[in-house]
Amino acid sequence: MALHYTYNQETCRYEPVVVSPKRFAKKSFRFLGLSFLLGAAFLGYYNLKYDFLDERIERETNEQLKTEWQLLQEELEKTSAHLTKIEDTDDHNFRTILELEPLPQSIREAGTGGREKESDQVGYPLIRNSIALADKISNRLTIEQQSMDELNKQLEAKQHERASRPAIQPISNHNLIRLNTIFGLRLHPIFNYVRPHNGLDLTAAYGTPVYASADGVVVFAEPNTGYGNVIFVNHGYGFETRYAHLSRYNVKKGDRVKRGQLIGFVGSTGTSTNNHLHYEVIYNGKYINPISFLNTDLTQEEYNRLIQHKHEQPVAEK
Ligand SMILES: [Zn+2]
Repeated sequence: MALHYTYNQETCRYEPVVVSPKRFAKKSFRFLGLSFLLGAAFLGYYNLKYDFLDERIERETNEQLKTEWQLLQEELEKTSAHLTKIEDTDDHNFRTILELEPLPQSIREAGTGGREKESDQVGYPLIRNSIALADKISNRLTIEQQSMDELNKQLEAKQHERASRPAIQPISNHNLIRLNTIFGLRLHPIFNYVRPHNGLDLTAAYGTPVYASADGVVVFAEPNTGYGNVIFVNHGYGFETRYAHLSRYNVKKGDRVKRGQLIGFVGSTGTSTNNHLHYEVIYNGKYINPISFLNTDLTQEEYNRLIQHKHEQPVAEK
């Protein structure tokens, strides 16, 4: 096998250099081996210094996912803290005002364990924690919603109860001539002996409008020997009011009345010497002094807003 030539000084000729196949193979293998080693060394170095592209993309995606997960986790934690504030206001503000006990922690956390198994199936611990937290928030919200419903019901009940308390004067100050606050034993002007006076006497002109002092139902609206034309209103919660010596009725038995509703007119029927309203408040079957219930802080303007017939003038009759 002649690959190249060499000059022979003895023969003064160029002669082919003969390389044996064995030597050729040896040289070739050495060359290939060296190249392979060099290649491998470069590849190793490159791998150490630079990731494969796929790996790099994967790593960058993971970093981004982690950042985004952290944002999500922070939002969930903020929501949880916000919810804690709402629960706290509910327990220590609304419930205190409405005379309800704070919700026990066991109720607030009820149901939070039930769905944890669902999040347990998630492999990534970070995501598992977030799902568990979101579940917990969702359950707490359900409980808080139920609590708000209960607060609303209690508020309505309280408002109803408050509206049923005989709180306003049944005759407008605008029309009132004199208020006799003697409650208890007194010398009766007609019978001329000492007997209990169980109400307030509000002197006003004949036909002056008389207003219900609270929400309730008319249970009696007929003439009576002593009271004359009288109206009994049952307000519930143990309260009843009576409006006596009326000249006329504006309601009948069974009517529902609201506080401030015109129910009748001042007169002097029954055992009465002058035009006035005899007003009684009964609580759990006992007469009580109506003055202790009257909201004396009301201005005339506030009172006028309460009564349905503003600035009603006495009705001229008879
Ligand atoms: Zn009286």
